[in-house]
Amino acid sequence: MKKQFIIPIFVPHLGCPNDCVFCNQKSISGEKKQVTSEDVRKIIEEHLKYIKQDSNVEVAFFGGSFTAIEEKKQNELLEVAFEFIKSGKVKSIRISTRPDFINKDILKRLKKYKVKTIELGVQSSNDYILKRARRGHTFEDVKKASKLIRWYGFNLGHQMMVGLPESSKLDEINTAKQLIKLKPKMVRIYPVLVIKNTKLEKDYLDGTYKPYTVVQAVEVCKDLVKMFVKKNINVIRIGLQPTEEISEVNNEKSEVVARTISPSI
Ligand code: SF4
Repeated sequence: MKKQFIIPIFVPHLGCPNDCVFCNQKSISGEKKQVTSEDVRKIIEEHLKYIKQDSNVEVAFFGGSFTAIEEKKQNELLEVAFEFIKSGKVKSIRISTRPDFINKDILKRLKKYKVKTIELGVQSSNDYILKRARRGHTFEDVKKASKLIRWYGFNLGHQMMVGLPESSKLDEINTAKQLIKLKPKMVRIYPVLVIKNTKLEKDYLDGTYKPYTVVQAVEVCKDLVKMFVKKNINVIRIGLQPTEEISEVNNEKSEVVARTISPSI
C-alpha cells in the first residue's frame, strides 16, 4: 500500500460569529491573516519537495469551519489544491468543518473540487453540553450533516472532545455510542485544553471549570478508543497537534493555561 502524506493547511475562521468556550479565535482575529491562494500553493509545493513521487498525497484544510468561511475564499483555496490533483501530484483533499455548515449545495460544490474526506467538529452528543460550550449547533445538526456527507459518497470523520464543562465520562461514552451509529470512517478525540483569552480560561481561573486530571482523561480516552476500534472506526488522533502555541504550559510562547493531557498521545 502506498504511504499516505497529509499536507496540513490551517485556515482560521476570522470573524467567526460563534463563541465556543474553548476557542480563542475572537481574540486572535486581529493578529492572524487570512490564508491566500498563494500561501496554499507555496505550502503544497514546499511539502511536495520532500514527498516521494508515488505517495498518496492529501491536502487537508484544517481549522474546523472551512465551509463557514466566505464561499469565494473557499473556492479560491480549493481551486489551487484541485490544480495539483489535476497534475497528479496530489491525490485528494480533506476539510474539517462545522455540522451546521453542511447542505446539499455545499457538498455538490466540494465534490466538484474532488474533496474526499469531510471531518465534522461534533464535540458532544449532549445538547446541554453543546449549549454550555456555546457551540451554536445541536446534535441533530451532526446527524443530518453526517447522513448527507455519507449519502454524497464522502469519507466521514468526527471530532469529539473530552472534558468539556459539565461533561462526564458517561456523556463521553454516550457521544461515542451515538457517533458509532452515524458510521464515521475515522474519529479524532480531543481532551480539552484551556487556552489563553477564552471563556474557559476565565472559568478555570475563577474555579467554576475544573479540567480532567491526566489520569481521568486517559481513562476516558482508553475506553473511547476501545469502542471505536471494536467497530472498525479509525482513531486517527488523540490530542491536538503540538505547535509552538499548543505546548507545555510553562513554555513562553504557549497559549495553553491548563491541560489535562500531553499534547498528543
Ligand atoms: S471553535 Fe467555535 S468559535 Fe472557534 S472558530 Fe470554530 S466555530 Fe468559531
